[in-house]
Amino acid sequence: MHELSIAQSMVELAEQQARQHNAEAIEELELEIGCLAGIELFALDFALESSVKGTMLENARIVRRHIDGQGRCGDCEAVFTVSTLFTPCPVCGSYAVNILKGKELRLKSIVIK
Ligand SMILES: [Zn+2]
Repeated sequence: MHELSIAQSMVELAEQQARQHNAEAIEELELEIGCLAGIELFALDFALESSVKGTMLENARIVRRHIDGQGRCGDCEAVFTVSTLFTPCPVCGSYAVNILKGKELRLKSIVIK
């Protein structure tokens, strides 16, 4: 399950940053998740829940920011919302679409104490 390795690396990264600031614990973790990142949100929640046990994030609030997919047509330059990686251009029907947004999967910020 790749959500588990993602959750674990998020937790590690957050702890690393918290330690650099001599924090005792992490109060909040903010994640950015693009809707094209290929993440099962339910699986990620579950993975995070088990990954934070015994870490500085044990009682942290996890905030998830969802990012909608956005693409630009390589043929007619139209910019539009995409819900899958294989959405054709709504203007000209081309599949030569460059994904601009929506593949993000990152730790945006942490709140420490
Ligand atoms: Zn187009």
